[in-house]
Amino acid sequence: MSNFYQTLESSFTDNLVGDALRLADGLVWSYQDLYLRVEQYAQVLVTHGLQPGNRLVVQVEKSAENLALYLACLKVGGVYVPLNTAYTQSEVDYFINDARPSIFVGQSERSDVATFTMDEFGHGTLFDKIAECVAGESCVTVSRQPDDMAAILYTSGTTGRSKGAMLSHANLASNANSLSDCWGWQKDDVLLHALPIFHVHGLFIASHCALLNATPMIFLPKFDAAQVMGFLPKATVLMGVPTFYTRLLQQPELTPENVANIRVFICGSAPLTEQTFTAWADATGHWILERYGMSETIINTSNPLVGERVAGTVGFALPGQEYRVADVDGVPVSTGDIGTIEVRGPNVFQGYWQMPEKTAEEIRDDGFFITGDLGTQDAKGRLSIVGRAKDLVISGGYNVYPKEIEGFIDKIPGVSESAVIGVPHADFGEAVVAVIVPTGDEVDVETIQSHLADTLARFKQPKIAVNVDALPRNTMGKVQKNVLRELYEGLFSRN
Ligand code: AMP
Repeated sequence: MSNFYQTLESSFTDNLVGDALRLADGLVWSYQDLYLRVEQYAQVLVTHGLQPGNRLVVQVEKSAENLALYLACLKVGGVYVPLNTAYTQSEVDYFINDARPSIFVGQSERSDVATFTMDEFGHGTLFDKIAECVAGESCVTVSRQPDDMAAILYTSGTTGRSKGAMLSHANLASNANSLSDCWGWQKDDVLLHALPIFHVHGLFIASHCALLNATPMIFLPKFDAAQVMGFLPKATVLMGVPTFYTRLLQQPELTPENVANIRVFICGSAPLTEQTFTAWADATGHWILERYGMSETIINTSNPLVGERVAGTVGFALPGQEYRVADVDGVPVSTGDIGTIEVRGPNVFQGYWQMPEKTAEEIRDDGFFITGDLGTQDAKGRLSIVGRAKDLVISGGYNVYPKEIEGFIDKIPGVSESAVIGVPHADFGEAVVAVIVPTGDEVDVETIQSHLADTLARFKQPKIAVNVDALPRNTMGKVQKNVLRELYEGLFSRN
């Protein structure tokens, strides 16, 4: 039996009286409550036709019910496909068409296409179905093979359209076990969980550590610096993106006394600056533990729990995993040289959903996955990320792929062509900036935003538009985005 839920369920049943979820309004779900709710949603999913291997697409706000729904999907052998709540109707339509789910759980605005609805409290037509469940009846946990799919996480592609990374039960299990060991999870740990659960970070990395050990999570609907500040004295672990830390640094109550209970602060999903790392240590006495991961592989490397955590580095490969910094042929470059980061291990995904060519391009015959990130390795084996090969912009922890946005901007009347880049921003890490070549009069950012409002999530829309006569290009005709990034790197610090 390789169903990852089976492993989680054994932990739950060992600690049914323990707290699973402590919610912002003071309500608490015990592991017994969570376990029973998973049973109920499992019954509902099976009754409404979710067969093993079928996809369950979910685009809802974070709630305890949402987490139970994810676990129920694993239990019945379904494939969980979470979608960012910021995606617009047309983006969601693309995912539904691609994933072809048996069941789509959406917000009430999508009741036209959703099989069931779920609101921010977890209420809606799915919740109503629980009343029809047979009390005391338990649903079988479906047997799975290690490589059977447990989830598809959509990650935007450089072609502008998203690729679905297929993660297996073995991928989830191996990474959850590794992280729990590496980060020394304790029976009295309390995780402060303020991340979204439509993304690898909140859904797998954070939740799995707590669930695997049946320890409590303070489960907040979203990140609100003041609210998180208030809960810090009650937590032992915080996992966040760099924006969490920069925003918390602005809170006057951030003192060593307020975080006296914290065992470890963990950070990832985007680069943590040396400045934030140092400012955090000055304010709290804690060195943030930075780690490196992605939708396709969950976590690859981590700074050590015990031992030196070095600013600007993402540490060492997790036990049982490997990485190499390589040239285009996959041959390791010399220590200290920049190359593409490739990773191998039981965490590496099964390929891209219905994109065998893309999978073959990115997973080598020897099992190494070409991450597309550029890095260097030092003599001790520490990895540092120096950039992204794929021009990915990460704004507030979310990936933004320029090509997708450029495609829409170029269609706006008055735009001849455009280049979208990420520019350093104190709050978001990077902010989206559009460099526009107008056909006539200048095109302002409000015009661009109004054209994109119905097609692109807000976090993908440019915050500033710069008008230029021509885009810089190399001899091959490729736009030199590095030149643009250098030119505009101070755009937000000048404001
Ligand atoms: P996602 O699939 O949304 O998790 O995005 C994965 C990408 O985030 C990686 O390929 C990296 O480019 C970036 N990333 C994740 N963790 C870090 C980190 N600690 N430092 C720099 N970039 C990171």
